[in-house]
Amino acid sequence: MGHFMEGQAEQKSLKWQNYRRTVLIYLTCMAVFIYMFTYGVSFINTLGKKHLSAANSEKRQVQSARPLKNYLIVQKSHKGTGPQSGQKSGLTADQSPSLISSAQKIATLSVVSQSADVFFNNTVYANEANTGMDLQRNILKQKEEADMAADLKADDTDIAEALKPQAQGAQDTTMKDTQDIAERLKNIYKPDGRKIAYLTFDDGPTPDITPKILEILKNNQINATFFVIGSLAEKNPDLIKKHIEEGHMIGNHTYSHKYKKIYADVSSFMKEVRQADSVLKNILGESFQTRLFRFPGGSFEKSKVLFREEIIKQGYGYVDWNCLNGDAEGKKTDASRLIQRVKETSRGKDHLVVLMHDSAGKHSTVEALPEIIRYLKEQGYVFGTLD
Ligand SMILES: [Zn+2]
Repeated sequence: MGHFMEGQAEQKSLKWQNYRRTVLIYLTCMAVFIYMFTYGVSFINTLGKKHLSAANSEKRQVQSARPLKNYLIVQKSHKGTGPQSGQKSGLTADQSPSLISSAQKIATLSVVSQSADVFFNNTVYANEANTGMDLQRNILKQKEEADMAADLKADDTDIAEALKPQAQGAQDTTMKDTQDIAERLKNIYKPDGRKIAYLTFDDGPTPDITPKILEILKNNQINATFFVIGSLAEKNPDLIKKHIEEGHMIGNHTYSHKYKKIYADVSSFMKEVRQADSVLKNILGESFQTRLFRFPGGSFEKSKVLFREEIIKQGYGYVDWNCLNGDAEGKKTDASRLIQRVKETSRGKDHLVVLMHDSAGKHSTVEALPEIIRYLKEQGYVFGTLD
């Protein structure tokens, strides 16, 4: 019994010992496991933070240069979307904390799954995309700079244009009254006790004739009126400027002087008038405006009644002539014949509007002009311009 009891006690003690050992081993294992788990987690965290701080420092560098670029890195690793989505939202990492936390999660996950390379590959990819964008940006910047330079140049031109009327002396100042020019021209031949001759030269300016006419007028200290053709004015802008500089009057004589074109209908007619006007403005400045018009071929015919009404409606005055040198009457127009024609057509008239031409080849007009002026002076005429 005692032996049995002893044996039983011994068995109990053995069991207890086994139990304790098992518990100890278990606890040790638990401790080791907990230690390893804790260490492991902290190791993973350390790695994760290390990678993330590397990525963040790169981001910060980029951020300081360009907010959009920073956002693109985050966006790329977060969703794998292209730069366009970043541009569309226009957000930066700083403006969007949720995007940063997403990036942190992804950074940690990529370490845990040992696929941090993917993250960095994405970053590199994003950087390459950004480099592409940088190039594009540089090209756009260069284009902007080129455009700005062109604008400045255009501004310079505008300034030059704006100064033109001052330099040229706007003709408007020589016009006594632009409002009633039509009325005044209508009464141009009405006697007022004075003898006045208005010399007019049509169909110029031309380089071979106009300068010679200008020279003769200057020598005689006389001013005249030039009814210029727009297309010729365009070709000889310096002569147009010279007219104004030397105190002469410029009138509109249409752009093309082609009858079929001008008199096709009222709208073609006004188009011709405006076209010539805009040529003159281009040469003399925007403030230049002549309200003086002469119909190519004159205004006499009944068929021109609509055009006469229209030009008055548009604020112009028009004038024909009551005296001429006949330099447009065929080929045989030598100087003496031209002088003779002026004598014939001026007889008995106090107010003369003398038609002459400074179109190409009118050499006899140049030749006859000094004698015509001398004759008219002798007859007691003073010279005026049609303002
Ligand atoms: Zn003409």
